[in-house]
Amino acid sequence: MQALDRPAHSLGTRLVVATLMFCLLLTVASTCVLTLLAWNAGLTKMNAELAQIEQVYQGTLTKAIWELDRDSLQTHVMGAARVPAVGKIVLKVTLANRPPELFEGISDGWTLVGMAPTRQLTLTYEPFAGARELVGELTLHGDERVLWQRLRSQLATIVITQLLQALALAALIMLAFNRLVTVHVKRIAAHLARLTPGNLGLALSLHRGARHRDELTLLVSGINELQGSLATYLAQHQQHEHELAGHRDRLAQLVDERTAELQAVNTRLQSLARTDQLTGLANRRHFDEVKHDELRRALRSGQDLALLICDIDYFKDYNDHYGHAMGDHCLCAVAQTMRASLARAGDMIARIGGEEFAVLLPSTNEVTARMLAQRVRQAVFDCGIAHERSKAAKVVTISVGLAVLAAGDAQEFDALFQRADQALYRAKANGRNQVAGPILISQSNANGEPQ
Ligand code: GH3
Ligand code: MG
Ligand code: MG
Repeated sequence: MQALDRPAHSLGTRLVVATLMFCLLLTVASTCVLTLLAWNAGLTKMNAELAQIEQVYQGTLTKAIWELDRDSLQTHVMGAARVPAVGKIVLKVTLANRPPELFEGISDGWTLVGMAPTRQLTLTYEPFAGARELVGELTLHGDERVLWQRLRSQLATIVITQLLQALALAALIMLAFNRLVTVHVKRIAAHLARLTPGNLGLALSLHRGARHRDELTLLVSGINELQGSLATYLAQHQQHEHELAGHRDRLAQLVDERTAELQAVNTRLQSLARTDQLTGLANRRHFDEVKHDELRRALRSGQDLALLICDIDYFKDYNDHYGHAMGDHCLCAVAQTMRASLARAGDMIARIGGEEFAVLLPSTNEVTARMLAQRVRQAVFDCGIAHERSKAAKVVTISVGLAVLAAGDAQEFDALFQRADQALYRAKANGRNQVAGPILISQSNANGEPQ
């Protein structure tokens, strides 16, 4: 702002300096020309003065020569020599039958230099009409010092006049420039410095009459147009930003909604990936995930882990007899029954094959596991799903293989599974619809198990 208020190099000052320089050069040139003209005028004037002296003295001198009045001649010559323009006057008397005589008058300090004019006049006398006789010759030398003196006084006038003209011109230009340009340029600069995005509607006005239509008018209308364009642009920009913010919010909302949907789908997918579609039990994959965790927990906590593998007896015959769809219904019913018979939250039941189920019983010893296995088997039996083709009973039954990982018994899960599978094999081989485990326990007919 300060730099704007007080520019280091004002345009007006620079204009004045340039004008002065130009006027100075013009003054020098015009002074030279005017001096030359004044010199020539001086020469002409001196010539005229000498001619006038000739005319004044011609008659008097001629008469004095004729009368041989030497005193008078001398007096006239000396008188003429006192005229300022005359440097030297020479009167040569050439009368017939007489030796020539010279009369001279010289002004003080005069020397013969070739710049001042010199005039020569032949003097004749006419003693009577028609008789002209040569009596002498008058030579007038101008005084060059007078020429220079006159030139000096004129030169001073010329120089002072020219200088005054230059100064007056510079002052006039300065005033006019200041009034016509500088004031308005400063006002424009102050207006521009005041502008902010909030006051772009403030139009620039130089408070000049409507008759002024010049470059400044163009500049003002240009600035006002620019402000208008900027204001429109800023308004559009703000509107776009507003819209953009709205879009951004809507987008964020959509992203949140989609994320929630995706999370729900993902949860459902994860659940589906771990669930058997037919029975709703955990599937083989989920069982494989859980079994290692349960094994590690059992080993860590030093508690037993029991595993039951349950297989529907003669299920192929069931399918063949009742149809595959009924087979599916039967699978579902058996699955629900098994699940219902295991009330403990930590127990896990999974469908690990076509008609084969696995039950994981954490913290369960062999006695309890056998009791639970019997409960499951009995529950399926009690369900009473007719199975005419079964050789084990009149209803659908299951065989159960039992294996228990005793506390402190470090084993791989596969080994536990293998032992349960072997027990199942034994249960099948012993007539099905029964529980088989590592310890042979007498089977009870009361619960529907075959001998
Ligand atoms: P065992 O008593 O020795 O177990 O005889 P089984 O007939 O049950 O055993 P097998 O392995 O011979 O037959 C199993 C049958 O289970 C074969 C297949 O038709 C049936 N099965 C497997 N998965 C499904 C299923 O998802 N739905 C239906 N309906 N049947 C299935
Ligand atoms: Mg099977
Ligand atoms: Mg079977």
